[in-house]
Formats: sequence, structure tokens, C-alpha cells
Amino acid sequence: MGSASAKPTPTRHPSAQIVNVHEQHYLVDAGEGVQQQMIRQRINPLKIRAVFISHLHGDHVYGLFPLLSTLGLYGRRTPLAVYAPAPFGEMLACHLRYFDSGLPYTVEWHETDTTQHALLYENRTLEVWSVPLRHRIPTAGFLFREKEPPLNVDKFKIVEYGLSVAQITAAKQGRDITLAGGETIPNGELTYRPYVPRSYAYLSDTNYSAKAAGLCAGADLMYHEATYAAAERKIARERGHSTSEEAARAALLAGAGRLVIGHFSSRYKDETILVEEARRSFPATEAAAEGRRFEIPERKAPRRGTADREREKLSEETDVRDRDRPETGPAEPKADE
Ligand SMILES: [Zn+2]
Repeated sequence: MGSASAKPTPTRHPSAQIVNVHEQHYLVDAGEGVQQQMIRQRINPLKIRAVFISHLHGDHVYGLFPLLSTLGLYGRRTPLAVYAPAPFGEMLACHLRYFDSGLPYTVEWHETDTTQHALLYENRTLEVWSVPLRHRIPTAGFLFREKEPPLNVDKFKIVEYGLSVAQITAAKQGRDITLAGGETIPNGELTYRPYVPRSYAYLSDTNYSAKAAGLCAGADLMYHEATYAAAERKIARERGHSTSEEAARAALLAGAGRLVIGHFSSRYKDETILVEEARRSFPATEAAAEGRRFEIPERKAPRRGTADREREKLSEETDVRDRDRPETGPAEPKADE
């Protein structure tokens, strides 16, 4: 909902995103104007489950306080959790005292320790982790990770082995099943995971940080700020920001599937140069834009069962071969280690 850095422009708003996980909505940063942006994008603010604020620079938080008031007007009753670094509590207390003393719901502030990679929030399907960043004030990004979905039992196997309800329940819990005739069916042959868990990393605002990138290893989608073009590397470093090249480097290091860059400085009337620079080393780069949605398609988990057993058999054979092989001493270290 916002792709601009500090100064808004006629077309860009300050940082704000909605992360939608199985129709659960999470607000990530809340720059000025986030309410109107939600209305434009047809996002019901009452559906927001929790708010995650990376740091307390105005362009990431000025939009939150009016939103809190409006949620009161809409009649929200469910408590709203806000994850933010200190001293957010002081700002919130001030706002509540002068503007929202009669709010019909409670705002629960959870302090994020921006020096730790810690689990902040979880429910049945999702975990949200903090990712320490390198900015001018305490800042943490967020890693959204889907949990591994529960096991499903293959319909054809239920029929093939005539499984009872109790056996199906046991299989869902990961247990092997012993049939009436005494044969044991390994769990892997009966069950499968419906999809591979997905992950989304939100890294803003920050200098290039190999550590942060490493914590987001394997993210399907990474948002990384790219406030400046490569030519402005010096300014970027001084102000605690990244260039588009550095954003690409972070995505490469993390082995991310795709990269979205944003938090563009108002000096760039259009972001083409930033995208082109990032694409030179990370081709799967897109620019964030107001109203633009990025989806991580669901991927089917590889079937376990027979294929798994074949693979296990193969690795057992390999183990035997390895055992027979004569000792050759420690392997040569690789040049890049
Ligand atoms: Zn900032």
C-alpha cells in the first residue's frame, strides 16, 4: 500500500503492506494514509489480526494512530496486538489518553527486541519471526512462515487397505498402521502434506545485512528496501538504507524465490533504474507499487509413500558402498569456505 521512503509523492505513499495468510490479514508498517489505501484496495480494516511495526520512524508509523480511532468507530471489540519496538508504549499511551480514552477494544503492545531473531506471534497456520536489521534506530524486519500443514490421508489408500476411522486418525497423527492380517503399512505410504509451507520476508529499513539475509534463507518472496540506486551507495550507507544492488545481493544470499524492492527515495520519478540494477544480479525482481499484489502460489508437497521408500532403499545401498570404500583422509576444503 506504500512504496515510498520518507517523503510521499503524488503517486507513492509511505511504507505499509497487508500480508494475507489464508485470509488472515496482518498490517506490516503503517505509514501516513494507510486507512485510505486500505479503502482503495478494498481491505476491511476490521479483518486485521495484528500489526507489525518495524521501527519508529514516522514514515512507518504515522498512519497507525488514526486507524486505531477508526477501528473504534467501526465497533471493533477484539483486542488488537501491535508488535513494535520501544518506546511505542509511550506513544500509544499518549494517543489513547488524548484521543481515544473510550476505545471499545484494547490495544495490546508487544515489545519487539530488535536485537533478537525471535518468534513474535504464532497461531495454527503461521509463525512470525523478528529479523534484526541495521538502521539508524532499533529496527527489526519480519519473517512470515507458514507452518507445516497437518497430514492428509490418501483416499485411495483408505479404500485399498480398508482403514477404519481409528486407523485414519492414527495415520493423521503420523503413526504406522498395522492391518488385521499383521502387515504394517508405513505412515509415509498412507499420508501426504497438502502443500509446502511458504515464507515471506519483510526487510525495511536497513543497510545491507548478510546476517538478516541469512535468517531469511529460502524465503519464497523477499521484500527488501532499495531506497537508492547503486551510484548513491555512500548516502545509502550514511542513512541506514540500501541500494537496489544490495537488495539483490541480500535476495541472492538468502536464496529467495523472488524479490520485491520498495521504499524508493522521492528523487526517483520512476523506479526503472532501481529495478534494472537489481535484475542484473537477481533477475526475479519486481518493484513494489501502490495496489500491487504479489502472490506466492501454493506448491504441492512431494508425495511420500512408495517414492520415499525407494529413496530410503537407495540411500541404504549408498551407505553400504560408503562403508566399503577405503579411508582416504579428510576431504580438501573448498576454495570458497
Ligand atoms: Zn527508517
